[in-house]
Amino acid sequence: MAGNRTFTMIKPDAVENGHIGAILEQINASGFRIVAMKLTQMSKRDAEQFYAIHKERPFFGELVEFMTRGPIVAAILEKDNAVEDFRTLIGATNPAEAAEGTIRKKYATSIGENAVHGSDSDENALIEGDFHFSGREQF
Ligand code: ATP
Ligand code: MG
Repeated sequence: MAGNRTFTMIKPDAVENGHIGAILEQINASGFRIVAMKLTQMSKRDAEQFYAIHKERPFFGELVEFMTRGPIVAAILEKDNAVEDFRTLIGATNPAEAAEGTIRKKYATSIGENAVHGSDSDENALIEGDFHFSGREQF
C-alpha cells in the first residue's frame, strides 16, 4: 500500500528568487497537508549525508555546494499516495523535460538548481523527514 507522507525541500535557488509563497500555495492547492515545516540551512556535512546516495556522481560537489549556499524550506507533507503524487506535481529533475504547470517547469532554472526536492520512496520519505524534524515537530 502506498504511504501517505513525503518530504520536500524548497531549495536555495527558489528561496533566493522569492518563490516560497507561490510554491507552498501550489502544494496546498494540490491537496497536501503540511505536517512539519521550517526555514533552515544545511551544513556541508548535512548535505553530504542527505545526498550520500549520489556521492560517486560527477555533480556531487556542485550539489552539496548548491544545497548549502542559503536557507531552504524543509517540510513533511501528507496526502494519499504522497510520494508519487508529489513527484508528479514537481515534474522531471531537468526543468527542460518537466511537464507544463509543474513546480520545476515554473520555478527551476537548470537540472542542478531545480527549485524543489521530493522523496523517491515511502522509506526515504520517513528517513528524510526524521533527518530534519524531531517527533514533536511532526503534526
Ligand atoms: P531530488 O532528489 O532533489 O528530488 P530528483 O530525485 O529528481 O531530485 P536525483 O537523481 O535524486 O533527482 O538528483 C538529486 C539532485 O541532484 C537533483 O535534484 C539535482 O539538484 C542534482 N542533479 C541531478 N542530476 C544532475 C546533473 N546531471 N547535473 C547537476 N545536478 C544534478
Ligand atoms: Mg532524488
